[in-house]
Amino acid sequence: MDYYKIKLTGIKDGVYSNSFEIRDEFFETFSQTEISSADIIAKTCLIKKDKKTTLEVEINGVINKIPCDICTEEIQVPISSRTSSIIQESGKEEATEEEIIYIQENKNDLCIKNHLYEMIILAIPTKRQHQLNSINKDECNKEMVNLINKYSIKTKKIADPRWEALKDIKLK
Ligand SMILES: [Zn+2]
Repeated sequence: MDYYKIKLTGIKDGVYSNSFEIRDEFFETFSQTEISSADIIAKTCLIKKDKKTTLEVEINGVINKIPCDICTEEIQVPISSRTSSIIQESGKEEATEEEIIYIQENKNDLCIKNHLYEMIILAIPTKRQHQLNSINKDECNKEMVNLINKYSIKTKKIADPRWEALKDIKLK
């Protein structure tokens, strides 16, 4: 559980880098997620300067097992994102344009698990399809596409036999 934590106490002015791996287990604590598998590296950079602490986070990697919008086959979706936030003790709110992560007073460390999760969710593209990303050079599964098309045409063509009978009458 301590893995996604960044130390806050006892640090002097300076830059503190860290990196974390985000794999399948990461998502187990988030019950309402569509993500079950991923391979992501998160790089963090804590910058402390003149009583101001900034946290920069960069994520890069892939989310696995996302169904393709067209053929439903599971594909890998690449994601990358960056955030920069100010770390501030709650109760000391100041007007600022910047993104703020509030922490309790005298907190020893900051757990960035939720922050990382939000970044990942926001970085998933709305269109998930074969060929739309650099990883999936393959084309859609043609058999699946054919099956899906066949099925959708069939459902449209279901006719009510009573109307069919009326059609014949009109023609006479
Ligand atoms: Zn596809």
